[in-house]
Amino acid sequence: MTTTNHSALPITPRALKDLRTTDDAGRLTTPFTDAEGGAPLRCCLRRAEPGERIALVSYAPLRRWASEQDVDPGAYDEQGPVFIHAEECGGPDTGALPFTNSHRTVRRYSAEGRILGGRLVEDPAVFEEALTEAFDDPAVELVHVRAVEYGCFLYEVRRDQEVRGD
Ligand SMILES: [Zn+2]
Repeated sequence: MTTTNHSALPITPRALKDLRTTDDAGRLTTPFTDAEGGAPLRCCLRRAEPGERIALVSYAPLRRWASEQDVDPGAYDEQGPVFIHAEECGGPDTGALPFTNSHRTVRRYSAEGRILGGRLVEDPAVFEEALTEAFDDPAVELVHVRAVEYGCFLYEVRRDQEVRGD
């Protein structure tokens, strides 16, 4: 966990409701028990406890953001696997930035949903700085934080949800 001026956005309750039935690739969702725990949950932004009921679903974060913003990301749209709780859950219980303890990519997007570059973050200590640097560019509207080795989407950070002041 890292203290932050930026908010990590979990998958919205509305999207979760869809994903718990049919994922963004059109597949039926199949819940299972995470016997050992540790799956990074994109609904609660924490790792699963042993024995929790979860599901692995295909999620299209940019597509869903773009439809809210009424923009067309065109070819930049993509979808990938995320873990979520199988049933309705309470969401994150902390505002701290999760999943910062490993190599991450901070990928930047414009207001039109185009990729504007990114940064590899190898040191958790500079994670916050990487987000600040991204939003220092006025053209950057949205950031995706992704795992490096798997490339999986972890969460969004949006310009309008930066915490202002101290
Ligand atoms: Zn959850």
